[in-house]
Amino acid sequence: MKLIILAAPGAGKGTQAEVLSKHFDIPTISTGAILRKNIADGTTLGKIAEKYINDGKFVPDEVMIDIVKKRLSEDDCKNGFILDGFPRNIAQAEALDKADIEIDKVLTIEVEDEKIIERLSGRLECKKCGSSYHKEHKKPQVSGVCDNCGGALTAREDDKPEIIKDRLATYYKQTEPLKKFYADRGILKTAIGQEDISDTTAAVLKALEG
Ligand code: ADP
Ligand code: ZN
Repeated sequence: MKLIILAAPGAGKGTQAEVLSKHFDIPTISTGAILRKNIADGTTLGKIAEKYINDGKFVPDEVMIDIVKKRLSEDDCKNGFILDGFPRNIAQAEALDKADIEIDKVLTIEVEDEKIIERLSGRLECKKCGSSYHKEHKKPQVSGVCDNCGGALTAREDDKPEIIKDRLATYYKQTEPLKKFYADRGILKTAIGQEDISDTTAAVLKALEG
C-alpha cells in the first residue's frame, strides 16, 4: 500500500501513521520528523529548516522534494509506504507524479479547528525518538518521560498558540486543495478524527477498506 495521509496539523496524522505502519508493515516517512531530527543533530538541512518551521512556514519545495524522493528510493519502501506530511501543496504532489511515484490511496482525517488548537497546545514530543503524547489525552506512563525510549518530553517550538494559527492558515490555503486533486483521481478516503485515538483508528481502517 502506497499511502498519503493528508490532514491539518494536530488532526492526528502522526499517531495514525504509527498505527497504520504496524498494521500494514510498511514504513512511515514523516517529513516533519525528518526535519526535526536534522534540527536536533544540527545538520545543514536542520539549520535551513529551523527558521521556516519555527515561523510556521513551509520549508522550500525543492528541499522537501529531494528529501522525499531519496527516502522513497530506499529498499524498505519497495512494498509500500505511508507519507506523513508530504505532499503539502500542489507543486509537491506534482513532483511525485513527475518522479513516477504512484500512490494507491490518500487518507484525510477531518477534525474541527477548535479541537486542533486544543490538541496542539497540549502536545508533548520526545526529542529523541519523535513519539508524540498529550498532556491529557495521551499521557505517558511516567510524566515527562517517553514510553518508547525514555527520552525527555517537551512541547514543540511550533506548537505555540500564535504559530499554530499560522500553520492552520497555511494548511487551508496550500494543503487542503490537495483533497480535490486526489478526489478527482478517485483515491481520496475520508475519516472523521474522533475524540478518542482508537475511534479514529477504527474510522481510518474502515475508510481504507473502500
Ligand atoms: P504538523 O503537520 O503537525 O504541522 P509536521 O511534523 O508534519 O507537523 O511538520 C512540521 C513542520 O515541518 C511544518 O509546519 C513545516 O514547516 C515543515 N514541513 C514538514 N513537511 C513539509 C513539507 N512537505 N513541505 C514543507 N514543509 C514541511
Ligand atoms: Zn522517545
